[in-house]
Amino acid sequence: MAGPFCSWSGIEPMRVDVAIVGGGIAGASAAYFLAKHGSVALIEREQHFSYHSSGRTAAQFTVGIGAPTMRRMAQASRAFLEAPPEGFAEQPILTPRGCLTVGRSEQAATLHRLEEHLASVGAQARRLSRDEALALFPALRAERIDAGVYEPDAMDIDVDVLLQGYLRGARAAGAHLFTRADVQTIMRADGRWRLSWNGGEIEAEVLVNAAGGWTDAVAATAGLAPLGVVPHRRTAFTFALQTEFDARDWPHVGTVDYDWYVKPEPGCLMGSLADAVPVAPFDAYPEDIDVAQAIENIERDTRLRVGRPLSQWAGLRSFVRDRNPVAGMRREAPGFFWLAGQGGCGILTSPAMGQAIAALVAGKPLPDPIKQLGVAEADLSPERESLDAGD
Ligand SMILES: Cc1cc2nc3c(=O)[nH]c(=O)nc-3n(C[C@H](O)[C@H](O)[C@H](O)COP(=O)(O)OP(=O)(O)OC[C@H]3O[C@@H](n4cnc5c(N)ncnc54)[C@H](O)[C@@H]3O)c2cc1C
Repeated sequence: MAGPFCSWSGIEPMRVDVAIVGGGIAGASAAYFLAKHGSVALIEREQHFSYHSSGRTAAQFTVGIGAPTMRRMAQASRAFLEAPPEGFAEQPILTPRGCLTVGRSEQAATLHRLEEHLASVGAQARRLSRDEALALFPALRAERIDAGVYEPDAMDIDVDVLLQGYLRGARAAGAHLFTRADVQTIMRADGRWRLSWNGGEIEAEVLVNAAGGWTDAVAATAGLAPLGVVPHRRTAFTFALQTEFDARDWPHVGTVDYDWYVKPEPGCLMGSLADAVPVAPFDAYPEDIDVAQAIENIERDTRLRVGRPLSQWAGLRSFVRDRNPVAGMRREAPGFFWLAGQGGCGILTSPAMGQAIAALVAGKPLPDPIKQLGVAEADLSPERESLDAGD
């Protein structure tokens, strides 16, 4: 993966317009959109791109999201995911799935808020009775739910097709892609950022910090104050489906108080406790207790018998204080751009976030489809007040 310039000593470092630290979906989408306008290096510590959070998701596209800027960036991403540019991908990125959120009568207000969130970005939302919810997901225990909200245009995302499209497009536009490159020093010299890693060095006018759970660690390496990016661990697993059920057309299903969700995968189901445990950034692994609690909750509300999971994993969802995403620069560090805080929506918002960072790096306004959904530069800014600890 590494280009011809990854290792050198005693010679001038390679120079690019933009160096991106972090090769998850955020860094890959930034590389794709930035490489159209200048020279780019994408630098990833691990052996392959998307080893961390971006390779461990539920692969869902939904706009039923509480945080308003995140929701708008999700909706602004839909067009790209539905119809990517010619040559981006040979297979569709999205396939229909739908998303059903169920609750009890005392949770009617929360279900209503979800409907409002969906409607606020022009997405369809259908209020369902218990029977209608059961018709969509027959494994639900009727006595455990009273109503539901259905988002028919929620989709499954083929995350690998999306990732490979970004990487292939970035490479074709001349981007240099480095793996096994753990950025260990970042210095400011002569108006440029100089980054070094084991055996490599690069100079860039602009640095994009797309390091996911490690965003604040990368900032510290550059001598900058943290943004307050907090990784939250989430555990997931797959399990076999009883033969009495045919899950092919089932939607993604979860409770409105978010204590489990389930979605069909080829030949099995995926489940999660929808847990969000604040942790220091690390190569996340599943805790048995979270898997056990998820199984208990799923079996409480459905007739599914989970048994022993077929596979299990965990990943990090990294949030800033107001749970909206960040794309932009702070006055204190010119040329140091943050692309962070995508929480549980980094895959589905990656087209709009990549387009936003490319515009901001070029000193241009946000693209029209993003602005038309009501997102201003200030909403994405790392300097917005809602990120302050005292807010
Ligand atoms: C169980 C689970 C389910 C999820 N479901 C969904 C979903 O359905 N839909 C959705 O949109 N999102 C989902 N998410 C959230 C999604 O995974 C994240 O929002 C997204 O992956 C964040 O992407 P990222 O590129 O910022 O982070 P990452 O993928 O973690 O990438 C950051 C990269 O930076 C690299 N890095 C860090 N420090 C350095 C350094 N010093 N030098 C070089 N490289 C460095 C790391 O190695 C890492 O690869 C889910 C997450 C989990 C855990």
